[in-house]
Amino acid sequence: MPAGEPSENSDAGSVRPFDAEEFRRQGRLVVDWIADYWTSLPARAVLPDVEPGEIAARLPAAAPETPQTLHDVIADLDRLIVPALTHWQHPGFFAYFPANASAPAILGEALSAGLGIQGMLWTTSPAASELEAVVVDWLRQLLGLPERFARGGAGGGMIQDSASSGLLCCLVAARERVADARTPVVYGSADAHSSVVKGARIAGFPAAAIRRIATDEAGRMRVDMLAAAMEEDVAAGRSPCFVVATVGTTARGAVDPVEAIGKVARRHGAWLHVDAAWAGTAAICPEFRGTVTDGAELADSWGTNPHKSMLVNFDCHCLWIASRHALESALTTKPEYLRTAAGDSGAVVDYSDWQVPLGRRFRALKLWMVLRMIGARALRARVRDHVAWTAEFAALVAADAAFEILSPPSLSLVTFALRAGDGATAELLSRVNRVGPVFLSHARVGNRYAIRLAVGGTLTGRADVLEAWKTIAGAAGSTGA
Ligand code: PLP
Repeated sequence: MPAGEPSENSDAGSVRPFDAEEFRRQGRLVVDWIADYWTSLPARAVLPDVEPGEIAARLPAAAPETPQTLHDVIADLDRLIVPALTHWQHPGFFAYFPANASAPAILGEALSAGLGIQGMLWTTSPAASELEAVVVDWLRQLLGLPERFARGGAGGGMIQDSASSGLLCCLVAARERVADARTPVVYGSADAHSSVVKGARIAGFPAAAIRRIATDEAGRMRVDMLAAAMEEDVAAGRSPCFVVATVGTTARGAVDPVEAIGKVARRHGAWLHVDAAWAGTAAICPEFRGTVTDGAELADSWGTNPHKSMLVNFDCHCLWIASRHALESALTTKPEYLRTAAGDSGAVVDYSDWQVPLGRRFRALKLWMVLRMIGARALRARVRDHVAWTAEFAALVAADAAFEILSPPSLSLVTFALRAGDGATAELLSRVNRVGPVFLSHARVGNRYAIRLAVGGTLTGRADVLEAWKTIAGAAGSTGA
């Protein structure tokens, strides 16, 4: 070893994982950096201009042996990373579904990291489990979801990382509940989210046991086809097990007839899961409850993502189940090292028994902070604005002879195309995303290539929606006026 270099065990090489004064100083810098980033967003392009592999090639191939400064890291963040990001919080982001964030949510996330707790069992952090149960029940009440999902009853609510994980857990519980061991079958509409097929595959369902039910012209699951598929399965010796009704499909925001689907599912003893990942939080406005929560009293599980349009940063999926027992009998495995007096007493919820991982982040903090610091009234006003601006945008599209609406606004999502056809529409979308500063994505609606406009970005205002139309119409050679 060259003279003067510290040995791996010397004091000079030892770590100080938390120096309070340094943390205060660095923390202020990071908070300032984040505030500057958000302020800079409107002036940025939404999409980066990078080639595959370009970033990796500019990063060192191996980790450093000796510490570098925050200054070094931030310099690389500014130089290498940020220019190669898609800016999801940009006011011109209209693609996919929004992935909101907000100051209270970011601070909640920071506090969660700062506390560094692990809430896998009630005993490992009682307040984390109990705050989660209470806050998720606050949200249940705000959404008008039924008492069967209420805290303290046979069911309850929790936060998972994603709608996909929530669905997977419910699917496994549903399979456990099927009375006889005949081949269990999963049903979702042809327009249901990819997480239905993915979850069923992970749970070991063969392709033939995953049935995609046809949709009607508005993209809603055909209940007659569902009933026929289930009867066919029963006649063939298979067991209807799990039905996913989607409230707000990803392509066009279609809402399946949940109540009718629930009745068919019940007839066959199948579990009804409602995937309201995107649309669910709109039920915070009473006027949208008819659309969003209808039939929820027939559901065994119902999930939505405050991490889409409700100002809580990713990840925060709220899942309510009607029977805690059903989920726990499927998922609980309690080796001695996870047993606690409180858990054994049955008086508490050990949330790790309701999810795939053992470990749990303290996600309730950010939801708590958004609900307290932003408040239900302002959250409702946002939903109403998004719905109104989407309708305004759709009216502009409909008034332009070059365009047609492919699916009318569903809450804050509308799809449209050029009358000139799929090729022209795809070419238009790629031009619009190139000239920016907007980002929209596409889907298939019926057999058409559709451009989707999903309104709901954290910073998006009415002017941004109108500007998006001007950009689109301009790129199509229309006036946009
Ligand atoms: N379900 C629907 C209808 C969705 O639109 C999405 C994502 O956009 C999901 C499920 C999956 O969400 P997550 O990323 O939370 O798994």
